[in-house]
Amino acid sequence: MSLCYVAFGSNVGDRLQYVLRALELLKRYGSVKKVSTIYVSQPWGKTDQPEFINGVLEFETGLNPIELLFALKEVEKSSGRRPRERWGPREIDLDILLYENHILMLSFLRVPHPHLLDRDFFLFPLLEINSELMHPLYQVPLIQFAQRLENRLEPFACLLPP
Ligand code: ATP
Ligand code: CA
Ligand code: CA
Repeated sequence: MSLCYVAFGSNVGDRLQYVLRALELLKRYGSVKKVSTIYVSQPWGKTDQPEFINGVLEFETGLNPIELLFALKEVEKSSGRRPRERWGPREIDLDILLYENHILMLSFLRVPHPHLLDRDFFLFPLLEINSELMHPLYQVPLIQFAQRLENRLEPFACLLPP
């Protein structure tokens, strides 16, 4: 089994319902060990769109990273994600932040996530559920990067432990 960290986000419709549905469907592929606080965050990249809710979960799975990516795409689809532009509005988005201490640089899968260090809605919820994590590439504690990043997150909801 492998331990990985998956970010979730939504900014369309009943955002919490999309997140809850995705969490439920993820159970087909492994077990959700921890879920961070869910935060309201400001849109990133394409800023003229509704606010997001975002969080991070710790996930234990027997899938390899590529299988996990395809499983996340399935979960997104089954949770109601409709095809739209990159960085645009979406019902649900699931991104792999970390997979053990693996480094992958494929055209369709980059791990650690290329924006892990510059998105507050990735880094702060990730450290909330595991403050000891190291950056697999730089081999320094991730917490060191948090000091350089502005945190504009507002708490939205806390789920009961899985
Ligand atoms: P971003 O990846 O910058 O957050 P996005 O989530 O809006 O952008 P999507 O349209 O959801 O982008 O996904 C585009 C593609 O990104 C996916 O089809 C997938 O192949 C690829 N991808 C690369 N690395 C990852 C990763 N670590 N997690 C999820 N998808 C990834
Ligand atoms: Ca994303
Ligand atoms: Ca995505």
